[in-house]
Amino acid sequence: MTFPLLFKPGVVGNIQLKNRLIMGSMHTGFEEDRKSYDRLAAFYRERAEGGVGLIVTGGFAPNRAGQLSPFAATLNHKRHLKRHHQVTQTVHDSGSHIALQILHAGRYGFHPWIEAPSPIKSPISPFKPWGMRERRIQKTMDHFVRCARLAQEAGYDGVEVMGSEGYLINEFLVTQTNQRHDAWGGDFTHRMRFPVEIIRRMRVAVGPDFIIIYRLSMLDLIEQGSSWDEVVQLAQAVEAAGASMINTGIGWHEARIPTIASMVPSAAFAPVTRQLKAHVMIPVIASNRINTPALAEALLQEGVADYISMARPFLADPALANKALRGQTQSINVCIACNQACLDQVFAKKTASCLVNPRAGRETELQYTPALHVKKVAVVGAGPAGLACAHVAALRGHRVVLFEKNSAIGGQFNEAKQIPGKEDYHYTIDYFRHELTALGVEINLMSSPSLADLQTFDEIVLATGVSPRIPIIPGIEHPSVMTYSDVLSGRKCPQGDVAVIGAGGIGFDVAEWLTHEHTQEHPAVFYAEWGIDIHGEHRGGIKPPSIVPSPRQVYLLQRKDEKMGQRLGKTTGWIHRLSCAHKKVQMLSGVHYVGIDDEGLHIDWQGQRRVLAVGSIILCAGQIEQRALYEPLQHAGCNVHIVGGALKALELDARTAIEQACRVAAAF
Ligand code: NAP
Ligand code: SF4
Repeated sequence: MTFPLLFKPGVVGNIQLKNRLIMGSMHTGFEEDRKSYDRLAAFYRERAEGGVGLIVTGGFAPNRAGQLSPFAATLNHKRHLKRHHQVTQTVHDSGSHIALQILHAGRYGFHPWIEAPSPIKSPISPFKPWGMRERRIQKTMDHFVRCARLAQEAGYDGVEVMGSEGYLINEFLVTQTNQRHDAWGGDFTHRMRFPVEIIRRMRVAVGPDFIIIYRLSMLDLIEQGSSWDEVVQLAQAVEAAGASMINTGIGWHEARIPTIASMVPSAAFAPVTRQLKAHVMIPVIASNRINTPALAEALLQEGVADYISMARPFLADPALANKALRGQTQSINVCIACNQACLDQVFAKKTASCLVNPRAGRETELQYTPALHVKKVAVVGAGPAGLACAHVAALRGHRVVLFEKNSAIGGQFNEAKQIPGKEDYHYTIDYFRHELTALGVEINLMSSPSLADLQTFDEIVLATGVSPRIPIIPGIEHPSVMTYSDVLSGRKCPQGDVAVIGAGGIGFDVAEWLTHEHTQEHPAVFYAEWGIDIHGEHRGGIKPPSIVPSPRQVYLLQRKDEKMGQRLGKTTGWIHRLSCAHKKVQMLSGVHYVGIDDEGLHIDWQGQRRVLAVGSIILCAGQIEQRALYEPLQHAGCNVHIVGGALKALELDARTAIEQACRVAAAF
């Protein structure tokens, strides 16, 4: 077997888990609406049928005060059980197990009735929490226990008690948020009483066999966070109180350090899990930026953990486990940690999906059913949209021919994968190359079909993408000017200091590229740049950052007079801004471009004329559609579809492009 430890069964309580893979907790957005539980069940069914050993649901509050926002998912009454039964029954019928996550948001909630050990506002919620009185603490512990009992009644195999990421339980543990002087505050034995007592009472209530996972904050990544000794003391105390497993939690949400975004190196936080495992007897779970079975197996082989939790990778490929079991690793659609269709959507109060797998969360409505009539399909353009379209069409049984004008498939993902921290984008290209070949898709590289060539097909999909916009600025034809595509494809090499025109997603990516040396980044560089003390020698796991200086001065410019990067993804925009600040990128908004000449880029900024004496100017000023064939094909009466950037370049993103492509291919 390729992954012997990953597929070694495990026993927790009296439950036999068929492998060491846990699908970590992820909020889908269906949990709140009782009418969406059929969709939630369908979502979990695909993952359970796909072979995962244990699923952990999104977070459910044990009471109203613990909700993340008004009406957020809560399990506090028997009337909720019927809908949960539907979920647990489905998962069990599909051969897997499921635990419910209990999450009390504490001061991170977005409503006026939030509560916390002390009435101290968090930097990420506009509301100040109520300080909890003794009676309220007792009641809240009862509510945690009630929630676990209800979960048991609903058929769950266990619960995960969310004790990390800066939510209520975590707030009791550290002095920054717990300034009490009673039996729940003061020294650490008092501060940890709240979680330990919850686990103790819960174990009594649910009996010996029900799984209780405690998600423990191993690195808080905040000032005055827990010390390593306190982390170990807590782990041993929750074990003694009755926890069945300990999961790894990293970083409070208010911490300004990335913990799961794409720039976090693979398994970057595994060393802390390994360190903790030596101090407890119960199984320990590793998590964060583990996205392939090979990496999971390697961590088990190295003795880092007993189980591996992956969350987003099961959005990207629900059958990840079964494919790994069969040794079909090249058929796994790997999560690229972009957050664009999952976390960013959930933060925008939409339901989660996945950029590389638009069926995630859409299992009941986006079906790739076998085609009733096999058609000859031409897909023009082998960027992400074209690849996804060809894949779905071929999956459905159509005969597909893919045309690509360049010498390789992948389109803009070939450029994206050059960005430091986006190296994983190569996985998507490799996946499609493998799948399309296996499905017999004819791939024609260096090929631009004519109107006559295409007229012989039953369906034609134009996924011809975009080209960089060349803005109208005097001197734009100066030899110092190049497009982002010139730079990232290696056609041109920037010289000296650089001005980047346009500060959208691509402008920030190019700024990252310009400010990093292009060697594969070692985790040690990541820890140093973000001030992470991976060995837990400093309280909270943080220390002063040590930034490798940028090899050049970079100016990042936009015309809009608004905060730079404001329109970037909610979960990653702040990282891009901070990373640029670390590298001393000068970010100027409200710029008017006056002209370009041998002196550099002339701008008007804050009422003054300035010249940026740069050697190169890189255009990241958006894109324009490439769709020359569309109208001729329409006039010729062909069944022509247009997807991705070729349809609408403005505010295009790969998530939209791939979803459009899959929906078109699912429909003909
Ligand atoms: P974008 O986000 O629309 O940004 C284009 C930038 O060009 C803006 O800053 C705009 O700012 C500037 N611009 C537009 N027209 C201009 C003109 N005529 N002259 C000078 N400047 C002009 O587009 P993008 O950066 O090309 O990214 C394309 C898509 O890829 C985005 O929708 C994004 O979702 C996606 N993407 C996302 C990420 C990420 O989230 N990390 C990374 C890469 C790509 P002003 O008009 O204010 O000057
Ligand atoms: Fe992974 Fe991106 Fe899909 Fe989220 S949207 S699961 S981060 S590939």
